Amino acid sequence: MNDTSQANDNTYRFDAEVSQLLKLMINALYSNREIFLRELISNASDASDKLRFEALTDESLKGLDQDLKIEIHFDADAKTLTVTDHGIGMTRQEVIDNLGTIARSGTRQFLESLSGDAKKDAQLIGQFGVGFYSAFIVADEVMVETRRAGAAADEAVRWTSSGQGEYQLEPITKDQHGTRIVLQVSQDHEDLLNQWQLERIIRHYSNHIAVPIELWAPKASDADDKKQADSKPELEPKVINEAKALWTRPKSEISDDEYQAFYSSLANDPQPALSWAHHQVEGAQSYSLLLYLPKQAPFELMMNRDSVEGLKLYIQRVFIMDAAEELLPRYLRFMRGVVDSADLPLNVSREILQDSPLLKKIRATVIKRSLDLIEKVTEAGGEEWQQFWDSFGTILKEGVIEDFEQRERVASLLRFPSTASDEPTGLDGYIERMGDSDTIWYLTADSEQVAKHSPHIESFKDKGIEVLLLTDRIDEWVVSHLHEFKGKQLKSVTAGQPDTDDQPKPDKAAKKLAGRVKKALGDKVGNVEPGLQMTHSAARIVTGEHDMSIQMQKLMRQAGQAVPDTTPNLEINPNHPLIEAMATQDNDQRFEGLAQLVFDQALLAEGGELADPAGYVKTVNTLLVEALNQASNGHD
Ligand code: ADP
Repeated sequence: MNDTSQANDNTYRFDAEVSQLLKLMINALYSNREIFLRELISNASDASDKLRFEALTDESLKGLDQDLKIEIHFDADAKTLTVTDHGIGMTRQEVIDNLGTIARSGTRQFLESLSGDAKKDAQLIGQFGVGFYSAFIVADEVMVETRRAGAAADEAVRWTSSGQGEYQLEPITKDQHGTRIVLQVSQDHEDLLNQWQLERIIRHYSNHIAVPIELWAPKASDADDKKQADSKPELEPKVINEAKALWTRPKSEISDDEYQAFYSSLANDPQPALSWAHHQVEGAQSYSLLLYLPKQAPFELMMNRDSVEGLKLYIQRVFIMDAAEELLPRYLRFMRGVVDSADLPLNVSREILQDSPLLKKIRATVIKRSLDLIEKVTEAGGEEWQQFWDSFGTILKEGVIEDFEQRERVASLLRFPSTASDEPTGLDGYIERMGDSDTIWYLTADSEQVAKHSPHIESFKDKGIEVLLLTDRIDEWVVSHLHEFKGKQLKSVTAGQPDTDDQPKPDKAAKKLAGRVKKALGDKVGNVEPGLQMTHSAARIVTGEHDMSIQMQKLMRQAGQAVPDTTPNLEINPNHPLIEAMATQDNDQRFEGLAQLVFDQALLAEGGELADPAGYVKTVNTLLVEALNQASNGHD
């Protein structure tokens, strides 16, 4: 157990994180108070699902899962609101663990990420899913009475707290298994204790819950009868929600609002989904699939890029487990949804799942349908695409690396900045513009700014050849897996040049100068050649077609990986004034300094790192001083 400490016989202190969360939540969510009921109903529904699931395999629970409804009572005089379920319930220890501490590992990160700005934090909390403690938004005191299914009547417990750092626990006797939560509603929120309010809130947030939600209200005839004002009116239950799993209903009968409402509770996302796909596959094997493409990265994904959850597996409408790990490849881990299969055994385990041919088939469909959704958004473009791309573009790119089968399909959904247009462009767009060439040229760099001014693309610009500017960290990996797209080669501009007829040839003097630079730089550099492709730059680094690019070397070093020793090759532009001036330099020492300078500059333009930055600064300063002295001497 955690650091829950006991103050006296039956009083316990909350875990520090609970106290912190409580305070924050009550302030941040004050204006969004209605969600507390959604959270309590959702817990009651989860508890019902759990009982149904355990009853499948645990003989002693058989039959207990018959009356799985959620009941809501309110009493405006006593100022109470009660949520009762007949689900799995909790043991004493579970109550301590679940309601006294925060078990979820993401909570700590979540608390750390709060900014203190109430508005932003409220949005975060909304995404995060606030759970049980949201009851304290509207209640002065919360009482939980619970009995674990299968336990004896006198093994039940009562948990009470006013949310001020402590809670009380005492043993009680409870007739039925399940949980009853009684809120002592605070004065500010008494208006909630009203049939129409409650009906509206339940319908709004919990309509899709698959267990019936009964609201107990005065009998219609009694309510009208003013004479009975003194005596308590007789109550009757009214089922408020649809109580049918949304994905099992015919598509034609589900409105967009219903799809969105279901999404919002499934994903805990205050933003609507970008789009969704609903398939009901009938036949030898039948299953339903409801997939959503979110608009923004869910909280878990922002906090932990490895998190994979969000695809729930049901078997004949019984919730079995989160099966994102089995059903979604990692590059689609932002997708949300539900898969319901009629043909898997109810007591399926993760191991069985992993080997199931049916699951492989469902997984293939999930991938295909997800890519269909993304394709639609990509083709439509505009703000929605931009939102999708900003949130998930980098993750989607992993598909090129990971999914050999879908590589080309995923690649066609990617967009990059390009020298040919201000708008990001795709590989298909590039092919349309490239004429009869057979090479897609790209440059990888740290930023669009570095890429646009890179010496490597000067000759391409002059010749009107488009270059894709890949500036995302992952792009280097993407192109290392994507050598070809629709029959066209992908090539880095640092490793080659377009074949054109009017290729200029370097003259003897240029070759000689290159030889001198090589001699001056020694082992620091591989080959030094005259490069006639550059127009504005003095020099550039070139890598062999099969060598690791400078950008990749840098990324690997940052990731703590060993990088094989490679010496960069250098090309110098004999038509550049600096190189021309070097050619006339007799002083060997100065020539060496200049050669080093030109080499360092080429590395810098690459976004690379200098082996000796201080040495570089020193050389530049020496040369500057000389030049300035000469200039002022000239003026004398
Ligand atoms: P979450 O539901 O997101 O895990 P909560 O704070 O809502 O977080 O609840 C914490 C835990 O308390 C739940 O995971 C569950 O184990 C338990 N719990 C809450 N409400 C109930 C209930 N009505 N029946 C059984 N267990 C419950």
